Amino acid sequence: MKLEAVAIETNNACNLHCEMCGNSGMRRKRQFMEMELFRTIVDDAVRCGVGNIHLHTIGEPLLHPHCCEMVRYVRSRGIRCWLATNGMLLEDRTSRALLESDLSALRVSVEGSEQAVTGKVRRGASFETIFSNLHRFSELRRTGNYRTHVGINTIVMKETLPDMDKFVGTWGPLCNGIEFSLLSGQGHDNEFYREQQIADCVSGQRRPCDMFLHKLAVTVEGCITACCIDFENDFIVGHIGDVSLSAAFNGRAMNRLRHLHNQRRFTELPCCDKCAATWRPSMAGDELLEGLRFRYYGLHKGKTPAQLESLRRRGEELGVRFEAGSATATELHELFQLLRILGEPETVLRLIALMLKILPMDERLGCAALCVHQGDAFRTTREAIFRRMATVINDPVTLLDIAFRFDVDVNAVGIKTEAQ
Ligand code: SF4
Ligand code: SF4
Repeated sequence: MKLEAVAIETNNACNLHCEMCGNSGMRRKRQFMEMELFRTIVDDAVRCGVGNIHLHTIGEPLLHPHCCEMVRYVRSRGIRCWLATNGMLLEDRTSRALLESDLSALRVSVEGSEQAVTGKVRRGASFETIFSNLHRFSELRRTGNYRTHVGINTIVMKETLPDMDKFVGTWGPLCNGIEFSLLSGQGHDNEFYREQQIADCVSGQRRPCDMFLHKLAVTVEGCITACCIDFENDFIVGHIGDVSLSAAFNGRAMNRLRHLHNQRRFTELPCCDKCAATWRPSMAGDELLEGLRFRYYGLHKGKTPAQLESLRRRGEELGVRFEAGSATATELHELFQLLRILGEPETVLRLIALMLKILPMDERLGCAALCVHQGDAFRTTREAIFRRMATVINDPVTLLDIAFRFDVDVNAVGIKTEAQ
């Protein structure tokens, strides 16, 4: 199997105590990774042909005094570099340094559009600080014409759902896109999860965790782990210096984890057994997320009757029935439901091309975003989908944005855009 990404735990301490995170209770020693170990990991990743390095697992990466130097090193080795932060330490100087280091993508995890929500979920966080930090980062990125992709990640739960429209209005203008996710991670049966979870996970079916498909993590101690929320080093599959990242990824310990998950033998892995990542959310939870994505990307807005009619006719050709006169997201939602059921890559590609052709340009990015998510779900390669997108999207900036957002190397798929 091909190892595509490595997450490096450069620091396992955090400046916040979020309700849904096990970091506060972690027993491992809090420490910063040494630069020498960091370089060794990145060099090994280069040898293994890894395309992406994420500088975050558990802990806040911006606490590390050499965080920007780490970004520079990754980029100097030709690997895309991603960084997720809670945004509290994204000060002016750090923002400038990250942008100048050619960070590929920044993801800020935040809940709420006002302090009451932000402070309750992310204990210790200040809405004002995160907002002004990201505002400044976006401004610097725009005026300096930097390419860093900016994403926001937010968890949809009972506490945050009523605030969601305001949330999108507040944060949307500062980023390229918002990812909505359900509560996940270890601890689905604790009080916070029971109280806040929107999807009825308990009645859902369990599924193998997708953590083992294309990614590994390395802890601050240099242990190679199969899980990037490995608080107590429970998923060690090798050690840096003893084994290469690729060998660990395809090694016996990793395959045992895959086997146990495929057989749904979660009770043999206590951490996974109490982790919400193995619970398939109920349909209601899934639909909720999709509905939010539709709303955010505005897919339901601005369609003319002629476009709707065209969509309906195309749908009929493919055996997809749309409700007559539907002016909401229903018609596209039906297509996605169909994609879920069919799932063959060729069908997925055909429908993606269809949707991209019939949608107006300003709606294509959002649609493409959704399609790529679907493609991932069906193990269709991103590159294949991207190539197909490139045949129907002529706007180079849009293409590049999709490529950054979904981790596609435009050079590797042989597509040149003027904006590169
Ligand atoms: S979720 Fe992230 S920001 Fe919050 S405590 Fe955990 S590591 Fe820190
Ligand atoms: S299911 Fe297991 S491997 Fe997956 S995220 Fe949870 S603890 Fe990690």
